[in-house]
Amino acid sequence: MANKKLRIGWFTFSCCEDSTIIFTELLNDHWQEWKKLLDIRHARVLQDKNVLDELDVAFIEGALNSQKQVDMAKEIRSNAKKVVAIGACACTGLPSVQRNTFPEKEAKEIKPLVKKFNFLPKGLKLAEAIKVDVNVPGCPMDEKVFLNALDSLLKEFKII
Ligand code: SF4
Repeated sequence: MANKKLRIGWFTFSCCEDSTIIFTELLNDHWQEWKKLLDIRHARVLQDKNVLDELDVAFIEGALNSQKQVDMAKEIRSNAKKVVAIGACACTGLPSVQRNTFPEKEAKEIKPLVKKFNFLPKGLKLAEAIKVDVNVPGCPMDEKVFLNALDSLLKEFKII
C-alpha cells in the first residue's frame, strides 16, 4: 500500500500572491521530498485538475473582500481539518484591506468602487470569517515559519 500523504490545498483570495511565489520557490528545493509526503488536491497555480474534498490542511493566502469570498472560505473550512493563514493579509487583513483604514473623505470616494465590485463594507482577515488553526505571518510569508508549520502538521497527521 502507498504511504499515507498529507492532503493539502493552497488557496488565494485578495492579495498580491507573493506567498504563492515563495511556496513555488520552496517546491523547487523540496519537491523530491514533498512528492512523497504531500497529496496536493487543490492548487490552481500548480495544476489544472483541482478538487476540494476532505483536506487535512488548507493553506489560505489573502484577505476577504466579498461575500462570495467569505462563502468560499467557509466551504474550504468545512472540507479541511486544519486551516493555515498564509501571510500578513490572511493573518491581519493588512495590507490588502487598507481601505478599512481610509479617512472619511477617501472612504466616501471609493464607495462607488466598493459597490461596483460587490465588496463588503470592510475587508476581513481570515479569522473574522472562519476558524484559523495556524498563522504564518510575514509580507510575504516567513519561509522558516511556514516550513516549521508544515513540519508540525506532517507530524500531527503522522505522515512523518
Ligand atoms: S501579505 Fe504581503 S506578500 Fe502576502 S499577499 Fe499580502 S501584500 Fe502580498
